[in-house]
Amino acid sequence: MKVIGLTGGIGSGKSTVVRMFGELGVHWVDADDVAREVVEPGTPALARITEHFGQDILQADGALDRAKLRDIVFREPAQREWLEGLLHPVIREELMRQLHPGDYRLPYVLLVSPLLLETDQHALVDQVLVVDVPVETQVERTMARDDNPRDQVERIIAAQMPRDKRLERADHVIDNNRPKDEVARQVRTLHEQLVQNPD
Ligand code: ATP
Repeated sequence: MKVIGLTGGIGSGKSTVVRMFGELGVHWVDADDVAREVVEPGTPALARITEHFGQDILQADGALDRAKLRDIVFREPAQREWLEGLLHPVIREELMRQLHPGDYRLPYVLLVSPLLLETDQHALVDQVLVVDVPVETQVERTMARDDNPRDQVERIIAAQMPRDKRLERADHVIDNNRPKDEVARQVRTLHEQLVQNPD
């Protein structure tokens, strides 16, 4: 079974493209969803975080106060290290579990991750699929979707891996600067290629 990492910058169309693979029966896991799941109320990781930072790190409803946690680790590198030491192995194990469903007939699955190439998550994948659009398309689509001002979107893009560097790492590219039906055709072609020859 091959694990193919699907990545791209903010607003490049990762969710849109992975849904198209999903419609073809491809199993996929979203790394951001898993990172949230492992600290849901009742999880061992959340218990450790509460032990370490105190009950104040929880919201009134018992869920992790992410903004507060982000603020602490932003200011204190040692705390960031502690948190990453706790969460990285937990996330990795849960990703591995979810990436290998029991009854599955296709030769590949997808791991969707915006930070696939920036983190050690790329060690989990056999190949890299980049969803690519020009930066201006990225800006326009993200502004329209999130109702965010241009300078904020541009700041996020500037903090991510540059488009050319990401493309250098790609084994496969989906050009998402096209109408959606044409993108769906690219997805179908790549799917057929991967089913026939996943290596
Ligand atoms: P993020 O990293 O922010 O989660 P993403 O990479 O998952 O974003 P999407 O949410 O799939 O990106 O797409 C961003 C926006 O662009 C959405 O509103 C989506 O509907 C739109 N979009 C995606 N692909 C196309 C396309 N081919 N044509 C027109 N609009 C598109």
